[in-house]
Amino acid sequence: MTTGPGSEGLPASGRFREECGIVGIWDHPEAARLAYLGLYALQHRGQEAAGIVSARPDRGGLVAQVGVGHVADVFDRERLDALPGRAAVGHTRYSTAGESGRRNIQPIRIECKFGHIAVCHNGNLVNAHILRHELVDRGSIFRTTSDTEVLVHLFAKSGQTDELEAVAEAVRQAQGAFSLLFLTEDALYAVRDPRGFRPLLLGRVGDGYVVCSETCALDLVDGTYVREIAPGELLRIDRDGVRSIQVFEEAPVSQCIFEHVYFSRPDSRVFGRHVYRTRIRLGRALAQHTGIDADVVVPVPDSGLIAALGYHQESGIPLELGLIRNHYVGRTFIEPRQSIRNFGVRVKLNPVPSILRGRRVILIDDSIVRGTTSRKLVQLARNAGAAEVHFRVSSPPTTGPCYYGIDTPLRSELIASSQSVEDIRAYIGADSLAYLPLEALMDSVGEEQDRYCAACFSGNYPLAVPEAETARTLFAKDRR
Ligand code: AMP
Repeated sequence: MTTGPGSEGLPASGRFREECGIVGIWDHPEAARLAYLGLYALQHRGQEAAGIVSARPDRGGLVAQVGVGHVADVFDRERLDALPGRAAVGHTRYSTAGESGRRNIQPIRIECKFGHIAVCHNGNLVNAHILRHELVDRGSIFRTTSDTEVLVHLFAKSGQTDELEAVAEAVRQAQGAFSLLFLTEDALYAVRDPRGFRPLLLGRVGDGYVVCSETCALDLVDGTYVREIAPGELLRIDRDGVRSIQVFEEAPVSQCIFEHVYFSRPDSRVFGRHVYRTRIRLGRALAQHTGIDADVVVPVPDSGLIAALGYHQESGIPLELGLIRNHYVGRTFIEPRQSIRNFGVRVKLNPVPSILRGRRVILIDDSIVRGTTSRKLVQLARNAGAAEVHFRVSSPPTTGPCYYGIDTPLRSELIASSQSVEDIRAYIGADSLAYLPLEALMDSVGEEQDRYCAACFSGNYPLAVPEAETARTLFAKDRR
């Protein structure tokens, strides 16, 4: 979902972009607790806020518990106990903090002529601002600045009398990337946009069902994998079981390659592929295409870890953990008054001098976005005594922003959009720099490569992006 500043006016066309994790549970005595565990597993997809809505069995209606922070900060026993019922949906969100951020926390919950409904969204609607204009003209009053709320209004205003038809009508008007969950008092709906940009899968848990972004969520609730929800498929899960409906015209599939490069957890299967195995292949291909004589391969943890392992396996160069990550760094930390060199990166990543000193080091990360992290890391390695530092990236140069649900800066802030590899090498201060070629990246997903979107690397955007949408900014977080 995407949000913009202030609820008064229209959003500045998706000014704030979010990556999100979603989970839905249907027909389980501990639905909210399982949703909570699912969100725990999907924490990497959004760390700013979390929320769960459950369907109340006794008095009807939906109950919500949402808050700012990590899943563990938002929920305690008491809040989970306040979420009764056998059905729940949950959302982790990656966005702005503060009051306007709080308003946008999902699931969005409303009451309308169909009764109560809660919606969770992973992705980004490219026509949200157009739809919102139209809705505001017709008298809609928006509570949030999120593109997801547009869907809620479309649903509530639907001329259909049947709930399923109204959900179908609402999502049919949306364009862009959307993996969505709708919870009503009678059903759980799950839908993936016709191009299938973001993942969504179906599993079983006990006698009930689970729908989630990645299989790592399924593992934690002890669920079993059933299948991917197909691009363009709408599922209605209710007391009669699962019904599958195709609501969109068929479109070429455009699954996000960056889910494999960086975003998904390596222990997950997304788009039917093991992320871990794909990353190993990326690392191996990187060694084949950009190999260099060196003493040690050092991953940038955690983002470069598995590609570095693949690189090591292919090249035979020893792998050492020459950068150690502090896993306990919170959202903010108080800096000392007197400046400490490279404090910002060092608080998260610290070099191991005995590994780096006097050695020719290959540093491996999954991507270079602005180049600021890589620059600091090269400096850290040099300060720790590395004789040479060669930077290798397990994806091609990131030349374009994502309009389909991954948080990226403006094109002008992407270092590779305007600078050559040699310029970037000079900027980050490495002895050499090389990226994985695009063809090698696409090979890593095998015969299915036609089903992937790699627009951030190729500039080939599968879905037209309205001009206003391209004016977005934001890439506020350093989220390794
Ligand atoms: P930069 O310093 O801007 O070049 O950022 C590079 C680092 O950001 C790499 O370590 C990536 O793993 C990480 N990264 C790449 N894409 C994203 C994203 N969408 N959100 C957060 N971090 C990212």
